[in-house]
Amino acid sequence: MIKPIRWTIAKKVGGTVFILLSIIFSLLIHSLIALTEIEAELNEIAAIDVPLTEYANEIEIAQLEQRILMDEFIHKKLAKKEHTKKEEQEIIQWQVRMNEQFELAIKTSKSAVNTASSSEFKDILATLNTLKKEHEIVNTLFNQLINGENISVNLDAVIKQDENFDRLAIDLIHGIEQITKRKANIVLEHEHQFAIISYSLGIVGAIIGISLATLIIISIKASINKISYNINLVSSAIKSNKDIPVGQVEKVKSTDEFGELSHNLTNMINEVSSDIDKREKVSKELNELATKDHLTQCFNRFKWDESLKLEVARSLNSHTPLSLIFLDIDHFKRINDTYGHDVGDNTLIDVVNIAQQNIRQLDTLYRTGGEEFSILLPNTKLTDAQFLSERIRKSIAEFDFKTVGHITISLGVTLFKGKEDTELAFSKRADTALYQAKESGRNKVSTILEL
Ligand code: GH3
Ligand code: MG
Ligand code: MG
Repeated sequence: MIKPIRWTIAKKVGGTVFILLSIIFSLLIHSLIALTEIEAELNEIAAIDVPLTEYANEIEIAQLEQRILMDEFIHKKLAKKEHTKKEEQEIIQWQVRMNEQFELAIKTSKSAVNTASSSEFKDILATLNTLKKEHEIVNTLFNQLINGENISVNLDAVIKQDENFDRLAIDLIHGIEQITKRKANIVLEHEHQFAIISYSLGIVGAIIGISLATLIIISIKASINKISYNINLVSSAIKSNKDIPVGQVEKVKSTDEFGELSHNLTNMINEVSSDIDKREKVSKELNELATKDHLTQCFNRFKWDESLKLEVARSLNSHTPLSLIFLDIDHFKRINDTYGHDVGDNTLIDVVNIAQQNIRQLDTLYRTGGEEFSILLPNTKLTDAQFLSERIRKSIAEFDFKTVGHITISLGVTLFKGKEDTELAFSKRADTALYQAKESGRNKVSTILEL
């Protein structure tokens, strides 16, 4: 199976840079090709079209010069005047000059036959050759004229031939002009295309670059947000000493370094969370061990000391009544002595169960000594505490304990008296009330409000 590519941040940035470099590279290649083409076209114009136009113009000028001289010559001939040797030579000089220009023009045209506009130059070359022949005919006729042969016939022929030449020369110049103009237009068009393609590639490159960079930034930001959200979850759970809400942990799906970081963070959160779970369980167990009585499963002396302080403070703050009952099994020593320690233990467990069944949810029973207990009754008036004490006393007295049969308990009741009272005095009153119940014959409930 092919392994999917892991898009790390380096690969994402590298990929974007590669795409941008490819665009820049193709832009460079395109520019190079386009510029070479334009340069070749301009070179062709400079090397062929411009000189050819120059030669054609030279031919035209030479022809005009020659024509003027020939006209004068013909006039003299018609007026039966003799021409000078100088005049004759001047005409021949222009003939030679024209021949030279023809040679140059034909050579240039031939070199252009292999270029892109070859067909047009073939036409130019044909026109040049025809023109050259026309020129040679004019020259031959004129030479005959100089030599005095067939004057009247040759005169007409020269004039006609010269006119013919003139027409062809104008056509030639016009043809060359057309080629130059068309080529200039092509160059302009190429320059235009080059600019459009360059701008388009540049704009496409910029759009792709900006889009990819934005996408990378957005994905990195989203990952960072999720990771910092997870870190906040952990830190606020630690601050508030609560369990980490593992279900709320955000997952980063990206395969880059942030994805890996988030994955590691999630693993760490899971481990810490399971550690916290374990610690909470152990701490709960330790708390139970520290606060509960092993034998009877009611709260122990340690918890009693803590709760007494707490309930007294609460009563003072909330201005609600707080009552207290002290409870002691009558002649418990006898039970142990008669039936053994185990039976004594079971009797203790039964007494606790009966007492628990009689008190309310808010009330709490504590084992403060061997067979001594206390009951804290928050938000309870003295009369209600007395009523409850009597109910417990009666339930125990009426209960048929296994092995032991019937036993009794004595109870001391008191009420917390607010700001003027103290924890110590409060419990001392309950203790004295219990002592009083024992003194007055046991199986009694006694109340003390003042010592
Ligand atoms: P009184 O009516 O005056 O309270 O007499 P009493 O015998 O109950 O009082 P005393 O304080 O003399 O005896 C309490 C006995 O409770 C002594 C002790 O052996 C017994 N005792 C204390 N703790 C335990 C316990 O956990 N299990 C058993 N089986 N006996 C216990
Ligand atoms: Mg006792
Ligand atoms: Mg006792």
